[in-house]
Amino acid sequence: MPRSVTGQWDAAAPGIVLPHEHLVIDYGQMSGQATPVDDELRARCIRVLRDLRQAGVGTVVDCTPPGYGRDLALLADLSRAGGVSIVASTGSFCEQWHPQPRWVVDASAGELARRFVAELTDETVPCGAIKVATSAGAMTPHEEKLLIAGADAHRQTGAPIVSHTTGGLGLEQLDLFADAGVRASSVLVSHVCSGDEPAEYAIEIARRGAYVGFDRLGHDAHDLDHWAGLVRRLHHEGLAERVLLGHDSVQRFTGPEDIAGHTFSDPTYLVTTFLPALERFGISQEVQRLMTHANPRRWLLAGGATR
Ligand SMILES: [Zn+2]
Repeated sequence: MPRSVTGQWDAAAPGIVLPHEHLVIDYGQMSGQATPVDDELRARCIRVLRDLRQAGVGTVVDCTPPGYGRDLALLADLSRAGGVSIVASTGSFCEQWHPQPRWVVDASAGELARRFVAELTDETVPCGAIKVATSAGAMTPHEEKLLIAGADAHRQTGAPIVSHTTGGLGLEQLDLFADAGVRASSVLVSHVCSGDEPAEYAIEIARRGAYVGFDRLGHDAHDLDHWAGLVRRLHHEGLAERVLLGHDSVQRFTGPEDIAGHTFSDPTYLVTTFLPALERFGISQEVQRLMTHANPRRWLLAGGATR
């Protein structure tokens, strides 16, 4: 069972689980120069969490890894004030827009895994998920090391893995994980079909038993019909049980310009806009509930018991 920032995550507690969101991202953290979180930002995050709670969301997985603005004590405060469980992430990110933190670059895979396990089993504010990532086109050596370390930490703790992709490489990630003894059902491949990847790519990820993250809902890159069409396609292939939905939202982004211009900040969009629209794509309430309730719980619990 993964841990939330306020203790044991309760799979039996009601509500939608959003598997890939962020509250604060700040690349300045890795050089010790993060922009402070002021009262206004804090209030904004609490407001968003309360809106989510009102909309029926019980758990948010915050996928910000250390060095990129993750503040575990802040997340615990926000979770309590907002009334939504938050599962935080250890791990790291890709190198496409910015080098990884020094401590990732300098560490061996074994050293990284030890660090991740320590965060996943911390008694004060534990993490519950392992974030890994690859750049567009090819996996860099440090990214490969990150995936190997993430697999190792997963084997030791059972914590679920969430992997960032840009325009593909999800299947290559799953190949590496299979070699490292990680069952595909413990892995959420994020941002699938956010670029111009064909639907067949999503289908292949799902057929391998991993979770397909259609988790850029609401972003400018693709309209609602794109995402609803993909959901319908996977449902028709008998793969709805592998689909996870989210927004990759963020309330304040401080980092590379290339990303800053493409952020999205309304994680209630799934409930207010996307799910109601799925009706007209022939996706029943039952299938919607599978994707918003049962699937994310199955993913979070796939690794089995943790310490
Ligand atoms: Zn993200």
